[in-house]
Amino acid sequence: MTNYDSFYIGGEWVPAGTAHTRVEVLNPATEEVLAKVAMAENEDVDKAVAAALAAFPSWSQTSPSVRAGYLRAIADAIEARTEEIANLITSEVGTPTGLSNAVQVGWTLHYLRDAADAAEKFDFESSFGGTAVVRKVPVGVVAAVTPWNYPLMQTAAKIAPALATGCTVVLKPSEVSPLNLFVLAEIASEVGLPAGVLNIVPGIGTIAGEHLISHPDVSAVSFTGSTRAGTHIASVAAQDVKRVTLELGGKSAAIILPGGDLSAAVRSTVNDCFANSGQKCVAHTRLLVPAKSLAEVESLAIEYADAQVLGNPIDPSVTVGPLVSDAQRTRVRDHISRAISSGAKLLTGGIEKPTGLESGFFVKPTVFSGVTPEMPIAQEEVFGPVLSILSYETPEEAVEIANGSEYGLGGGIWSKSREEGFEFARQLRTGQVSVNGAIPTADMPFGGFKKSGIGREGGMHALEEFVDLQTIY
Ligand code: NAD
Repeated sequence: MTNYDSFYIGGEWVPAGTAHTRVEVLNPATEEVLAKVAMAENEDVDKAVAAALAAFPSWSQTSPSVRAGYLRAIADAIEARTEEIANLITSEVGTPTGLSNAVQVGWTLHYLRDAADAAEKFDFESSFGGTAVVRKVPVGVVAAVTPWNYPLMQTAAKIAPALATGCTVVLKPSEVSPLNLFVLAEIASEVGLPAGVLNIVPGIGTIAGEHLISHPDVSAVSFTGSTRAGTHIASVAAQDVKRVTLELGGKSAAIILPGGDLSAAVRSTVNDCFANSGQKCVAHTRLLVPAKSLAEVESLAIEYADAQVLGNPIDPSVTVGPLVSDAQRTRVRDHISRAISSGAKLLTGGIEKPTGLESGFFVKPTVFSGVTPEMPIAQEEVFGPVLSILSYETPEEAVEIANGSEYGLGGGIWSKSREEGFEFARQLRTGQVSVNGAIPTADMPFGGFKKSGIGREGGMHALEEFVDLQTIY
């Protein structure tokens, strides 16, 4: 039985005191309390940073292949417990089990193993013009601050490259879904990761998170979460000239070009937009369609949205689970209400409670059409199962609408040919663009333009975020 009343610091479980705040972690499908988790205070964060700082000199001197070995051992141990961890994440986040297995756990394994491979290929030292040496030196102690929607995967996307380069880490997971990170701590201990290399302190963002990112012994902050918190974190980190990587919000557009496969495009976009109940930064939440195809797209969107199975995500037939919390449900319903009052046409879904689901933070899969670029629903990140359909007259107008966002995270093109799609994609101001529903791999660089972030995660590129260059001549 996991003890959620402690912090993982310096390779030990440090018990919380009676004065520590405890937060209830709920199953969002049933509203049952899964556990009460102690929230770290400033002194716990100080201890965790001290442990990471003490571990840094020896960890940073280990060879890349030794560090890769630990990452692979952690991945193997997670893989051996896939079902247990996937079910735990399903119970605390509400992700349907298939997605929990494939992405919540599956992509965690990719991030760990890709970083291990990258560590062994990374150019930690190279000659410069025959007269100098350029070294890539680990930055030091990294603060990793993560959100609740893909809690383990996003942790792996940070800690794997950080550990691979020789940095040590203090992880502050989201207070909303921290249970799976206790399993990670157990595994780190089992595989013999040296004490202090990875420390895990669940806590409230504005308390433990704030103390961690402003700690003078932290050299870099790697943050995934809202743009609101990210801009604040960047300004705090700037006071000490800390390195910052930010993975923030999005309002990504899927664009169907004339001649693109309408049915495939709409089915894929609807499924993508509603995956993890739309609580996905890179979800394609705007669907841009040629005006002459609008009526057909609307009827396909209704068909595919209504085919979603809403319910308890532990049931394998369910495709859309609840939102993570009551607060998140309220936010999403507010977005839907505002979309209706601003004149968007509700095709399916809406704010009413879904029938047959008495408990749980459910919102019906919702599709709007008649959305215009200036409407809030076309501009604001909803982070719920809501798709907006916008029509365009010319390809130039499609580009203008797609780029007319403060975000620049993802996007998709649906075109007659791969070549046409690749060419069109060059006009989008976003960090990644898929063509005709292609699935990315975890070693591709991932990150955003504009208010979607700074820096990249995934594969070799992620390691660059955690090194400083030293030139010796
Ligand atoms: P959030 O910003 O509320 O919280 C994220 C993390 O930051 C949590 O651990 C929280 O405790 C912590 N935090 C909050 N305030 C802090 C502060 N002042 N100092 C330090 N830490 C602080 O985000 P969320 O609600 O957990 O996640 C949803 C958001 O995350 C969405 O906007 C979504 O787009 C974004 N997101 C982005 C990506 C990406 O890769 N670009 C991936 C997933 C989620």
